[in-house]
Amino acid sequence: MSKTHLGHTARKRFGQNFLHDDYVIDKIVSAIQPDNGDNLVEIGPGLGALTDPVCEQVDRLTVIELDRDLAKRLRHHPFHADKLNIIEQDALTLDFSSLLAAMPDKEKKLRVFGNLPYNISTPLMFHLFDYAEHISDMHFMLQKEVVNRLAAGPGSKNYGRLSVMAQYYCRVIPVLTVPPGAFKPPPKVDSAVVRLVPHPTSPVNVHSVDTLERVCALAFNKRRKTIRNALKDCISEQDIANLEIDPGVRAEVLTLHDFASLANFVYEQGG
Ligand code: SAM
Repeated sequence: MSKTHLGHTARKRFGQNFLHDDYVIDKIVSAIQPDNGDNLVEIGPGLGALTDPVCEQVDRLTVIELDRDLAKRLRHHPFHADKLNIIEQDALTLDFSSLLAAMPDKEKKLRVFGNLPYNISTPLMFHLFDYAEHISDMHFMLQKEVVNRLAAGPGSKNYGRLSVMAQYYCRVIPVLTVPPGAFKPPPKVDSAVVRLVPHPTSPVNVHSVDTLERVCALAFNKRRKTIRNALKDCISEQDIANLEIDPGVRAEVLTLHDFASLANFVYEQGG
C-alpha cells in the first residue's frame, strides 16, 4: 500500500493516516455542524480532508499542524488560504486559553476537532481537558478502542482511568465507526469518531483533579486487586467503608462519584 497521498509521503512519527473516504468525511462534517462565527480549531489538518469541507461552510478556521511541509502546503492553499489561521506548533504544548484570547469573538468558546495522530491522542485529550472551561465541544477521530474506553461505564471491561477522567470533564458521545480502508495509508486498527462536550458544571465536586487522577491510576493499575489493596498506601479499609464504598470490590465497578469521594478524602488527609 502506497504511503504517498496527494504528493505527500505519510510520516509515521506524526501519526499520518489521511482520510480519503467522502462518505466518512461528510458524516464527520455533519456531526461537527460548523457555523460561521464559531471559534473552530482543527488539530492536524494534514492534506485538508476535513479542512476543505469545513472551509466551504465558514469564513475562518484555525489549524494547528506540526509537520512543517504540510503547514507550508496549507499556507499556499489554492482556495482557502485566506480563511486559514495556521499555527505551526505542537498541539500538545499549545496554550488553548491564549488561543481563545486571540479569537475575534472571545465570548464564544472554542470548538475543536480533528483526525488525531493516534500516537499522541490520549495525552492530547488530557491536555485539552485542562482547557475544558474554554471549549464548547470536541469531535475527534480516534482508535475505536480508545473511544470504547472513553465511553465505558462501571462494570465494562473497557472502563478505566481514561473513562473516569473523560467523564469527569465531558459528556462522551460515540458518533461513528470508521474502517481502516477510509485512510491512506490504512491504520492497523478500526477507528471511531467521538463527540466530547465539556460539562457546564462538573457532575461531581472534586477538590483536586490531580488527586482524582492519582487515585484512578492507582486503582486501575492492578485491575484485579480489590481497592482495599490497590489503595492501601493512601486510604485505610475502614475509611473506604466510611465513604460507603465496599473495600472488597475492584476499581472497575466504582462510579465517578465513588472516585470523587475517595480522592476528596485522600486530598483532605494531605495525601
Ligand atoms: N486531518 C487530516 C486527515 O484527516 O486526513 C490528517 C490526519 S493525520 C491522522 C494527523 C495529523 O496531525 C497530521 O497532519 C500530522 O502531521 C498532524 N500532527 C501530528 N502530531 C501533531 C502535533 N503534536 N500537533 C499538531 N499536529 C500534529
